[in-house]
Amino acid sequence: MQTLTNNRFTVGKGIKLIDDAGVEYLDGVSGTFNLSLGYNHPHVVHKIQEQVGNLTHMSSSFTEPYVNEVLDHLIEYAPNDIDAGWMRDITGSTANECATKIAQKYTGSTDIVSLYLSHHGQTQFATGISGNAFRRKRFPNSSAANAVHVPAPYCYRCPFKSKSSECGYQCVEAISDAIDYASSGSVACMIIEPILGNGGNIMPPLGYFQRIRKLCDENNMLLIADEVQTGIGRTGTMFASELFDIRPDMITLAKGLGGIGVPVAAVLMQSRLNVLEKHEHSFTSGSNLISVTAAKSTLEVVSEPGFLDAVKRKGILLESLLQELAQKYPIIGEARGVGLMWGLEIVGDQNEPDTPKTNAIIDRAFTDQHLILRSSRYGFGNVVKVRPALTTTEEELVEIVDRLDSVLASVH
Ligand code: PMP
Repeated sequence: MQTLTNNRFTVGKGIKLIDDAGVEYLDGVSGTFNLSLGYNHPHVVHKIQEQVGNLTHMSSSFTEPYVNEVLDHLIEYAPNDIDAGWMRDITGSTANECATKIAQKYTGSTDIVSLYLSHHGQTQFATGISGNAFRRKRFPNSSAANAVHVPAPYCYRCPFKSKSSECGYQCVEAISDAIDYASSGSVACMIIEPILGNGGNIMPPLGYFQRIRKLCDENNMLLIADEVQTGIGRTGTMFASELFDIRPDMITLAKGLGGIGVPVAAVLMQSRLNVLEKHEHSFTSGSNLISVTAAKSTLEVVSEPGFLDAVKRKGILLESLLQELAQKYPIIGEARGVGLMWGLEIVGDQNEPDTPKTNAIIDRAFTDQHLILRSSRYGFGNVVKVRPALTTTEEELVEIVDRLDSVLASVH
């Protein structure tokens, strides 16, 4: 994303950021898509304050009773007989490392299949399994991750130039070929984002995940859903795996799990996969009580009756507002998403990616409309992302889109 500002923000309220001059900005992307409950959700703030007053950290040898409360809550919502978890990470990057280590240890195999345009984190390993070379450049260890990268289900710009109605899922066929010809011959797992977030809010076509599940079964590969962006209600269900019927063997979580931006991560898995020894994957600050409390209290809010239904309703509203913009402005090639996770692909006259215009939209949104948006950095960098907090009101959604409308009117 572009560097936007010298503002010094001092207060966050709901989806608003207020700077030291008292100027209010509307955050249309919930921080870095991680403030699932906005800046100062009272329940989460209160629980953290209470916890800080009692106990902030103990060795992870003692935190299991706290961690298990969170894992039990997550497992209640988890699909595909997922009934165990691991919570010694504080970032999505290392949660993905944890899940892939589990896959390697459990299967005895090495390779990890992932999609072009995927983003799984920024440690060298997580960079290695992510599907974009520009982050690996100059970091040789990131190319040593036994990754097999395969074409993404990016229907708007199909890598096989197919029309989606008649494509025959060539991108899934290509995965079989890559396993046969480009892997080491020993594939442990496939890791996949239900919606490719940083890649440009790419939504796989209907039937894609069912084919992926079958492919994994046929090749004895485990399936990991990286729900760092899509998890914890973002798509209107607790996990996007449920919405898209993905049936993963493991789910990784971070970002929204911390509710108000507190770093915390988790890996959920079927208990047969609970094969790691504590010393094989653990971090000093993992499962610290501030993080665990943030996760616990966030889940309390997200699982309140009606909360996720409200996200679904607001998602439908956001969809209709953004589709209206897409009708109005030809520079929006496609508006795609679900729930409160949307992207607008910005294009030129021939539908070619228009990155300069995308950057102009982000910049003008901030300077002219005091609206915070982000663009995708992967692919062509030409997708404007709209992902407000799950607590955003309908009026605020309308306000976000009104401001975006004014920006588009000035750049189109
Ligand atoms: N997976 C996905 C899908 C992500 O979007 C990100 C972060 N953008 C990560 C993993 C890495 O998470 P973290 O930044 O917490 O390491």
